[in-house]
Amino acid sequence: MNNNVDTRYITAIVFSLALVIAVFMFNSRVLNRISENNPSQNAQLEPVDIAAPSAIPQNLSEDLTDNYIANAVNASGSYSIWQNMPVQVYISENPYKSVVESAFTTYNNALNGIISFSFVDNPNNAQIKVTFPNRIENTNSDQYVSGLTNNFSSGKYIQSSTIQLLTNKNGVNLSSTAVYNTALHEIGHALGINGHSQNRDDIMYAQTESSKAASLTARDLATLKVMYSNNEALISQNTAGAASEKLKEAIQYTQQVPNKTAGWINLGNVYYDLKMLPEALDAYKKALQIDPSDANIYASMGSCYYSSKKYETAAEFFGYAIERTTEPVEIENYEYMKALSTLSAKKYDDAYVQYSSLVNKYPNKKEYLINYLYLCTYLNKPEGKEKLKDFLQANPDAASDKNIQQYKSYYRL
Ligand SMILES: [Zn+2]
Repeated sequence: MNNNVDTRYITAIVFSLALVIAVFMFNSRVLNRISENNPSQNAQLEPVDIAAPSAIPQNLSEDLTDNYIANAVNASGSYSIWQNMPVQVYISENPYKSVVESAFTTYNNALNGIISFSFVDNPNNAQIKVTFPNRIENTNSDQYVSGLTNNFSSGKYIQSSTIQLLTNKNGVNLSSTAVYNTALHEIGHALGINGHSQNRDDIMYAQTESSKAASLTARDLATLKVMYSNNEALISQNTAGAASEKLKEAIQYTQQVPNKTAGWINLGNVYYDLKMLPEALDAYKKALQIDPSDANIYASMGSCYYSSKKYETAAEFFGYAIERTTEPVEIENYEYMKALSTLSAKKYDDAYVQYSSLVNKYPNKKEYLINYLYLCTYLNKPEGKEKLKDFLQANPDAASDKNIQQYKSYYRL
């Protein structure tokens, strides 16, 4: 019996690893210097002059060769996209809500169904959640981060994404145009573009001017179309050279804005993708010196330690990350990673407590349940059976899952 359980354990871990590999992607956008681009003291919400959907002449619509996909993918050449359209978007109540809606609509119009968004009223039903925090970073320099996107991916697909948009700087409302431009940029990240274009005209260029409404360029659209094409040959042809391109971009970014955590986190992520873990940790530590309150940095370091098989340290760092965020999506991911790290460290009693809490909070997540059931059988805890019963009642389709089947027969259900 023990052998069987061990097999399940390994299966569960392998399954879980697919989630671990989920690269924590942290992208941010840095606006122009405020001194060059002061928001006016009494900025009113004005309608945004939205450019018409980028006009790509129909006969050229399939020429996707002019793109920046080598910057858009991870340094390893991999990337994650949304599996199904439309992607469900929730935008928090805010005076800028309609401005942000129009940014999503711009993508809907320009991409003709290849990528589409629809809006939901309940944040629990959303895949992309847009919020308007009072601050995004704790540095107070003349360059400022106006938006930040976190994507949570499992292998090839993005599972959820959060976009934070700044609407106010030093007590002064940003213009609708500035927020619209930043939203367009952050939506690009939320679609899976994990990097920046080197071309100033593209929406995914790292910096922006907010004097006029930006539009999606043919290169922006070509990049997304290649990413969402499912055409492996086209993709690999375009992702060649990503490693050096990404590293160059990331190092350049830290030189341009050395006092921003985003640049160092980005550099850390690139090293992480290239499996250069000590270099990645060094970059994350630089970010931590700038902002020791940023949950993302602890989570990224946790991932580094996990990949280095330093599981106890990994669990500790995911714990620090949990303490420093209130965002439910982040909390769930960090709790999950902490529990997985604890289990991988073979601290079974602690892992049992953590997985119990996970399955209570998220009763319909199969991957949490499988490791929980492993721990129940390993530690002779009887409560696994009831949890599995409840799960199967709520998720009858899961009965065909190989791991679930093993536990079903173990519990004689
Ligand atoms: Zn960006």
